[in-house]
Amino acid sequence: MANYSELYERLKEEKRQLAEKLEQLKASGQPLVERREGSPFGKREEEASETLELEKRLAMGKKLSDTLARIEHTLQKYEAGTYGLCDSCGQVIEQERLEALPQASLCLKCKAHETNEAKGAR
Ligand SMILES: [Zn+2]
Repeated sequence: MANYSELYERLKEEKRQLAEKLEQLKASGQPLVERREGSPFGKREEEASETLELEKRLAMGKKLSDTLARIEHTLQKYEAGTYGLCDSCGQVIEQERLEALPQASLCLKCKAHETNEAKGAR
């Protein structure tokens, strides 16, 4: 049985940082772009860039909370003693894969399978 405690610590730290970023993102409800008061350029241009910023922020927030959810799931697996086991087939996930992606919950084989199915569905 491999020792996963180091990966567990990494995940906990990553979770903390992600939660922090999400908080910052939520707190930055104001437009990130400086308001150009009295700009000779039309207001429409400004609004367009604000919409773009908002969309970027939403996309980033979704990505962050997705990753956070995955990490939380992995931490739960660790506490349940099933960390490092594939969610799909129950086999041990490749050590190198976990080193590269500690929150991986599928082995390479199942991951490849999942990716292929996703492609086929489109
Ligand atoms: Zn698997």
